[in-house]
Amino acid sequence: MSIDNKLIILGSTGSIGKSTLEVIKHNNDNFEIVCLTADCSSVALAEQINFFKPKYAYLNNYLLIDDLKSRLIHNQTTVITDINQLHEILKSDLYNTLVSAMSGSTGLLLTFLALQANKKILLANKESLVMAGDLFSKYRKQIIPIDSEHNAIFQVIQNSGSKQIDKITLTASGGPFRVYPRSKFDQITVEMALRHPNWSMGRKITIDSATMMNKCLEIIEAYYLFNLKSNQIDVLVHPESIIHSIVNYKDGSSLCQFSRPNMQIPISYALGYPNRINSGISSLDLSSIETLNFSKVDHDKFPSINYAYNALSKSGTSCLVVNAANEIAVSAFLESKISFLNIFSIIEDSFSISLQNKNSSIEDILDADIVSRRKIKQIIKKYLIS
Ligand code: MG
Repeated sequence: MSIDNKLIILGSTGSIGKSTLEVIKHNNDNFEIVCLTADCSSVALAEQINFFKPKYAYLNNYLLIDDLKSRLIHNQTTVITDINQLHEILKSDLYNTLVSAMSGSTGLLLTFLALQANKKILLANKESLVMAGDLFSKYRKQIIPIDSEHNAIFQVIQNSGSKQIDKITLTASGGPFRVYPRSKFDQITVEMALRHPNWSMGRKITIDSATMMNKCLEIIEAYYLFNLKSNQIDVLVHPESIIHSIVNYKDGSSLCQFSRPNMQIPISYALGYPNRINSGISSLDLSSIETLNFSKVDHDKFPSINYAYNALSKSGTSCLVVNAANEIAVSAFLESKISFLNIFSIIEDSFSISLQNKNSSIEDILDADIVSRRKIKQIIKKYLIS
């Protein structure tokens, strides 16, 4: 039997990449790994190459290439470090499905090349959609979201349709500071912000959950993925992360998807679509859960949710600027250069940035991103801890 599912995984050593490979281990006969990519995790990438034997592997940090090669126990994989070679692979017929699991804006161009080459995209990299929503939405039919909330909505509308939606509700765990008093937010350290109660994820998205900027990006993501108006997208705090999102239909019915909070479930749905495959995770016994809680977002504590509506009400580049400001602020916070609260200040200040809004091609978007980052690096100066 030939294998129809030929995959490239961008960001295979990150949290989503590892979960994807875990699902593939449960369905080994149905998937072939064509290429794995990593930023700098040479040890983890070598282990994956040794196990999955992809045709190609790309490591972004060329200084670690000898270390990577010294760890390989077979020679079935060509290791590349030239990004142009990766571009050629993404444009090629070697594969049919891309798992876009890199964190941040670096995945934008790579994901776009695969979209243009008519590949199926399993999208975890929400930043690329936030930056290039208008452009990406032209390729909407090729995209299956992995982000758990959007995957939940995607699952519901496969059965019940997307025409009669009244609104959707993205659930949010509320992160580690859901019940932490606002008056103590100035004392939040990097270590405190990295402790997420439910999900084990990479550092950037874990900080995004602590600020609830993750939900801001997800509102924008949903807006473009499902072709909704911004007033059709709501957020509900649900600390247990069991219900992954809700679709409210015009007849008063609300449908949701629920499961254990484990990314292997949305990943397996996206990998197997339109069929369901073994995720390696058991279904949930509701009798073992005593209570599910729900509450409104506290906008005084988390102004981030309103940034999404604000950006969507402006031009296309506003979402790109919010994303850039957040990425720069989060990385400065992770390096202890700014305080937790200043992540919000920097994003708020960035709303004053106006860019020439051509925004029609991928080149325009990449240019706008460079210009906005230059301006944000000026803004951030006044917040640096000396
Ligand atoms: Mg999510």
